[in-house]
Amino acid sequence: GARHPSIPLPVDLFGAGRRNSAGLDLADRVVLRETVAAVESPLPFRGGAGSGAVSHRDQPLVQPHPNPSPEGEGLAEAAVARAHAAFPAWSATPVTQRAACLDRLADLLEQHRDELMAICVQEAFKTIPDALGEVREAVDFCRYYAQQARDGLQPIELPGPTGERNVLRFDGRGVWATIAPWNFPLAIFLGQTVAALVTGNSVVAKPAPQTPRIAARAVELAHEAGVPQDALILLPGGPEVGAALTADPRVMGVAFTGSTATARKIARSLLEDDSRPIVPLIAETGGINAMIVDSTALPEQVVADVVTSAFRSAGQRCSALRLLLLQEEIAGTTIEMLKGAMDTLRLGDPADPATDVGPVIDQAAYDKLMAYRARAGVVKTLDAPAEGLFVPPTLVQLDRIEDLTQEWFGPILHVATWPAGKLAETIAAVNAKGYGLTMGLHSRIARAADETEALAQVGNLYVNRSMIGAVVGSQPFGGEGLSGTGPKAGGPHYLHRFVVERAVSIDT
Ligand code: GLU
Repeated sequence: GARHPSIPLPVDLFGAGRRNSAGLDLADRVVLRETVAAVESPLPFRGGAGSGAVSHRDQPLVQPHPNPSPEGEGLAEAAVARAHAAFPAWSATPVTQRAACLDRLADLLEQHRDELMAICVQEAFKTIPDALGEVREAVDFCRYYAQQARDGLQPIELPGPTGERNVLRFDGRGVWATIAPWNFPLAIFLGQTVAALVTGNSVVAKPAPQTPRIAARAVELAHEAGVPQDALILLPGGPEVGAALTADPRVMGVAFTGSTATARKIARSLLEDDSRPIVPLIAETGGINAMIVDSTALPEQVVADVVTSAFRSAGQRCSALRLLLLQEEIAGTTIEMLKGAMDTLRLGDPADPATDVGPVIDQAAYDKLMAYRARAGVVKTLDAPAEGLFVPPTLVQLDRIEDLTQEWFGPILHVATWPAGKLAETIAAVNAKGYGLTMGLHSRIARAADETEALAQVGNLYVNRSMIGAVVGSQPFGGEGLSGTGPKAGGPHYLHRFVVERAVSIDT
């Protein structure tokens, strides 16, 4: 629907107003900051004014985990064996009971909100609003999939043309491996995991090596909510543990969120053993996400949505805006406004309620992004705090849309222009990159929106709004092409990807 015609600047760039839950007020933020400080952390985290801002350079790139290969293989093997043994009883548990576990887990997540947020801030350097979004999205996934399971997984009676009784049932497949990213270490970790569980599968869940603590806490709460110990097993570790997990022939499905390259490796490993069934892979991967802006767009609204989409979460979202495509006539003024809006962003300690942009996840990410920034055509950037892994929000000007050929997973936004009357060609140039996750359009011409909807090959198209923060149940999330295998997390068909369908015909 139409939104307010113009938004004055400065706007609440990081307001939670579009979420389906209540916003976070300042008093809340201050309390949460104290919680962050109080939660005990085994990781060295020095934050806040006076202590030299955030510094986690001294952290190892990959958190040490207790199971390097070949022990990792042993642990993956043992985890799958336990989950395999737990499968028959869990899959025979009525779907209403499994769904009730998810509802209880949602309650527990809400009860432990501050603690979970604090771990997200400490371990993943989430800002406080982003940490709140994590917990809310995890809660939303639990409640939504619980409801979807109750509504959609009961056996269906089908017509019996010769007098027989026909029933279609939806059963768990066996052990699922869920492999999660560090950028949504609670919401995506749990979303994938509870979807697999509620559909009657047992799960071995591998968090990203950067974020094992939040995952461990989530699994504890899931057990407390009634999921049997062996129906959900946490398997922390790095790539070699993941490789051992997906290579195990008892794994009957994999839900993965991460890079396209890793998704490809997983797909290969699932097919390697000829004696193994061909099992489903649900992959959500990256994107080179573009926003197209024409001369009828409302400039203040464009600038607010661009800043949110490109720089919130330090650009560390798969959905984030990477390529801003401005119609030539408005490019100059829009870029000037955007530069001004970037100046209002505050970089700093993520535990500080005033921070808009925190550090990036680890040294490897920092080095890669900073090396690129040093050689890219930067037209605007900001100063970063002297210490810490801060990649400043940066605007890079490109001559041609084709010049951006890879995803840069951080707060680096590229801008290029397109000539009036060439909307279809511009969309085609974006499609040609082969990714298909999110796309944005800002235009007040209904025909432009229709044309974009018809031509854009993306899983999530956003018109006259920001491109991040898909809401569970309202904006099912997931991409196509190089961006993933297609299933939409938080959508009405997601759970059916996790089951086997069995038709039973009975002559009476
Ligand atoms: N669902 C998130 C969003 O809409 C992005 C998930 C991701 O980064 O993998 O912003």
